[in-house]
Amino acid sequence: MSSDAHHSGISGLGGEVLEHTEVKVSHCYQCGKCSAGCPLSEEMDYPPSVIMRMLQTGNPALEDKVLRSFSIWVCLTCEMCFARCPMSIDIPKMMDFLREKSLKEKKANPRAKEIIAFHKSFLDSINYTGRLYEIGLFVDYKTRTLKIMDDLALAPKMLRRGKLNIIPELIKDRSGIAEIFRKANKKNKY
Ligand code: SF4
Ligand code: SF4
Repeated sequence: MSSDAHHSGISGLGGEVLEHTEVKVSHCYQCGKCSAGCPLSEEMDYPPSVIMRMLQTGNPALEDKVLRSFSIWVCLTCEMCFARCPMSIDIPKMMDFLREKSLKEKKANPRAKEIIAFHKSFLDSINYTGRLYEIGLFVDYKTRTLKIMDDLALAPKMLRRGKLNIIPELIKDRSGIAEIFRKANKKNKY
């Protein structure tokens, strides 16, 4: 356990999240702004604020539900929740860790099969070609898979603009494509 996790007394999955991502689930005070702003919360089995609450309880049964949830795969890493959170909790970073952990423990939600397959082949593809623009296809694919194109058409223009800007921002903020390659290589081990 990292000294952070140790000093905060957080154990279980919340402690692991802290250790691997520095995201402190204990800081969430359940204001709900993340879920209200999440463009995909309606597609999720548990919206982001509920995932946070489940992790706060430290209840192994609820932690298991988080790892088996569809939510962690539906998350587009758009960072809308992060931008809105008064506690600056980096939910997308946490989701990323939860996806990895879910795969490792073979708990991935069966409904997410196609998303996972694409996720893997997509990461392989950029690892191979380094063609960043293909990342946009990932977002498109997820939305098509979830059959929410109609919703997207009705969604605020901001979302559609966001859809185009998400990844460059992500790359800028997350020390670039090297990080994506690192994850691709890690994921390929599963
Ligand atoms: S990063 Fe994920 S959880 Fe957060 S707003 Fe975007 S889709 Fe929702
Ligand atoms: S916006 Fe932040 S503090 Fe509010 S419920 Fe979501 S994670 Fe918790």
